[in-house]
Amino acid sequence: MSINIALAGNPNSGKTTLFNRLTGARQHVGNYPGVTVEKKEGRCTYKSQDLNLTDLPGTYSLTAYTEEEVVARDFLIEKNPLIINIADASNLERNLYLTMQLLEMGMPVVITLNMIDVAKQRGITIDHKLLSQRLGIPVVPIIARSGKGCQEMLAAAVASADLDTIQPIDISYGEDIDTALIQMQELIKQKSFMSDIYPGRWIALKYLESDSQIISKGQSHDHETSAALQKIVNQVDRHFLSTLNTHPEAIIADHRYGYIKSVLRDGVISFKHDMDRLFISDKIDKVLTNQFAGPLIMLAILFGLYQFTFTYSEMPVGWFESFFGWLGQIVDTTLADGYFKSLLVSGIIDGVGGVLGFVPIIFFMFFGIAILEDSGYLARVAYMMDRVLRIFGLHGSSVMAYIVSGGIAGGCAVPGVMATRTLRSKNERLATLLTAPFMNCGAKLPVLALLIAAFFKENQSNLLFVFTLVSWAGAMLIAKLLRVTVIRGESTPFVMELPPYRLPTIQGLLIHTWERTWQYIKKAGTIILAISVLIWAMMTFPELPASKVQFYENMRTAATASYSSETVTQASNQDLSKEEMSTAALILRKELTSIDHQQAEQGLKHSVAGRMGTSLESISQYAGFDWRTNIALVGGFAAKEVIVSALGTAYSLGEVDAEDSASLSDTLANTPGWNKAVALALIIFVMFYAPCFVTVVCIVREAGSWKWGLFSMAFNTTLAYILAVTIYQVGSTIM
Ligand code: GDP
Ligand code: MG
Repeated sequence: MSINIALAGNPNSGKTTLFNRLTGARQHVGNYPGVTVEKKEGRCTYKSQDLNLTDLPGTYSLTAYTEEEVVARDFLIEKNPLIINIADASNLERNLYLTMQLLEMGMPVVITLNMIDVAKQRGITIDHKLLSQRLGIPVVPIIARSGKGCQEMLAAAVASADLDTIQPIDISYGEDIDTALIQMQELIKQKSFMSDIYPGRWIALKYLESDSQIISKGQSHDHETSAALQKIVNQVDRHFLSTLNTHPEAIIADHRYGYIKSVLRDGVISFKHDMDRLFISDKIDKVLTNQFAGPLIMLAILFGLYQFTFTYSEMPVGWFESFFGWLGQIVDTTLADGYFKSLLVSGIIDGVGGVLGFVPIIFFMFFGIAILEDSGYLARVAYMMDRVLRIFGLHGSSVMAYIVSGGIAGGCAVPGVMATRTLRSKNERLATLLTAPFMNCGAKLPVLALLIAAFFKENQSNLLFVFTLVSWAGAMLIAKLLRVTVIRGESTPFVMELPPYRLPTIQGLLIHTWERTWQYIKKAGTIILAISVLIWAMMTFPELPASKVQFYENMRTAATASYSSETVTQASNQDLSKEEMSTAALILRKELTSIDHQQAEQGLKHSVAGRMGTSLESISQYAGFDWRTNIALVGGFAAKEVIVSALGTAYSLGEVDAEDSASLSDTLANTPGWNKAVALALIIFVMFYAPCFVTVVCIVREAGSWKWGLFSMAFNTTLAYILAVTIYQVGSTIM
């Protein structure tokens, strides 16, 4: 039989490093049901004993403050695994706080003192045998990074798996709480209040700590007993408020720390150096988080990340593009015209190619972020930005999501939304992932560039910069708006801590990067495929009725009638260039092309997409958008890249030779109904309306509910519409 083992520990204690070392490639990443917390499972063997390992989310505690904590706790209670508790030896006191909570739950624990090398460097020595003796559980020092001590650790784990029931440790929390605990414990025992699931004392403790999850479970389990427990808690609470001006949970935490201190005293831990000597990390921080130099260095580093991503991904992006271009060409020349070919080329190859084309950018972006994250620098960025972003109900870490989404111009909201995982507070995370899509991603940029070129040629680069600022201001203001309305609630108080700087390992970086990239390929790839096919079908069907097709056929016949047969052959031979044709043939070709365009336009108007565009005109006219723009905007929901190409198709430019046609921007500039006010309204609309479909799916996934995906579509589009109408109406009168 295999043994189930859970790796529990603080963030950055080296859990993942150990997990990767033990399981190698035999691992599987999924999610805990119903939440976005990642679940990593893997297998390994020790002396022919099979071990199932789960890498629990990193937590400092087992309260119900964060999703991670709840998930970790539920997992431990449901699965009752053997716990390998990884503690950072260089920061033992703080790490043991979680250990205490595990022991209080009566869980079987093996302590692993990781990063013994770092501890040693800092002049910290730990007598692990003495520690083991005092806590009554195995303690094994290891270096996860090199694998030193891992075998001994597994040996200890396998040995403890055979042990019988474990006694939860009993800490004294001072007279007041202890008295209440005993009283509550008795009540719990008497009523068998959830005691088949949790130890009685633990339930009582959770009530005293006002643990929302346990309390609501208790209420639905047995309302009366829960109320009786609550009454005792209220008494204690009032007592502490009047005597010490504090709450029981603070007292409980104090006593846990006190217990840890006494465990560590007298020989378990000793320091060679004076503790107030600056560690290397602190020295680095003196510069990197300096009040003046810090922000400048940060801007430089972020800019560097940006450059890195877009410079190094340029070539692979090109490869992807040429590959799909080549593939489209092959299919185009080998297959006969028809639905199948059209579906394959315009639907599948273009759609999926468009998505896969982003993979290199995403890979490099995530690689860069993994470096910042694993080295500990990301925590500093968050720390510096925190004060400003807090004003808007956001968090220091929001900055990364914004930048990834296109905060410096160009980026992608999909990895941006996924980057919000570094945020630990649920409200702030939600506010960030809902507003990150307002940044100007790489797919919106071509639309902006097109419209600016067409209507505001004079100050092109300035305007792009202005629109970048507008996106930041918009995102932050909307975040504030959300935080005082739909995502109300205090930010979870959590200390911004600065983990020590570390040199990232290549293995760690690659695993981090690949996990995220693969998720993108998997999810986005399948969805985009379906959507592309749908869009293609909507722009193709229903087709023009035969009578209409005949009508254009007749027009063609009429046009060719007055020309000699030689001219007609010349005009219809697409391989001939302008120079090789007679003047008459040129005129005829132009006429024929114009008929083709009329037919294409009528065909588009007749299709489902065209009808949608036309019927939307009744609303969109107030923002100055006609049916063709509407098609582009609806298509842009599938992927913002579609906007420019759909405008191109809709304005019948798709097939025209570059030589005798004006560019799209010139056409728009000369089309009646288009002017600066329309252009500006459209730019703002594109910047703020519904995120693309893939982003919405990511939002749903990350926010853990369909509700937020629908919300972002409805809210953003309404907001964008109001802005666009205002701009168009005001603009039309003053411009
Ligand atoms: P997690 O957040 O607990 O999953 O921690 P990680 O496994 O991601 O490790 C955090 C950082 O600590 C990484 O940069 C690791 O390379 C580093 N690390 C892990 N174990 C050791 C160790 O034993 N010694 C040293 N020096 N670094 C380590
Ligand atoms: Mg980890």
